[in-house]
Amino acid sequence: MNKVESFELDHRKVVAPYVRKCAVLKGENGDFVTKFDLRFTQPNKEAIPTGALHALEHLLAGLLREHLQGIIDLSPMGCRTGFYLILWGNRDAAEIKEALEKSLKEVVEAKEVPASNDLQCGNYRDLSLFGAIEYAKYVLEKGFSLNIYGDN
Ligand SMILES: [Zn+2]
Repeated sequence: MNKVESFELDHRKVVAPYVRKCAVLKGENGDFVTKFDLRFTQPNKEAIPTGALHALEHLLAGLLREHLQGIIDLSPMGCRTGFYLILWGNRDAAEIKEALEKSLKEVVEAKEVPASNDLQCGNYRDLSLFGAIEYAKYVLEKGFSLNIYGDN
C-alpha cells in the first residue's frame, strides 16, 4: 500500500491553528496540484462539533473561492480538527493563510449558511451558523501559524 502523507505527521507535536503545505503533486501533463492541512483545533484535545464544522465547510467553500484562484476542493477532516484544501499550481502557505483569515473574518459577519436546504446538501439539518461563527472567532484570536510546531 502507498504511504498516506498525513499519517506520517506526528499529531502529538503540532500546535494548532496552523496552515501546512502537505504535498505538491505533478500530473502527467506537467500540471501541479498542492494540498494543504488547515488545522483549526489541537489534535486529540479539541474537536469542532459536526454542525459547526459542516457550516464552516459551506461558508468557506464560497468565501475562499473569492480570495483564491484555482481551488479544487475543501473538505473537512474526519477527526473534526480542520480541513484539507486542494488547489491547482505549486502554492505557498502564506497565500493560503492570508485568504483563510480574510474568509474567516467574513464568516464572523455571516447572516446565513449557504446551501442549507435538502436540494443542495446531504444533511442540511446539521448546520450551525452560531458554531461556525464562534469557531471562526476562536481560531482568528489564536491566529494561524505557518510553523506547525508553534511560533516559539
Ligand atoms: Zn452540507
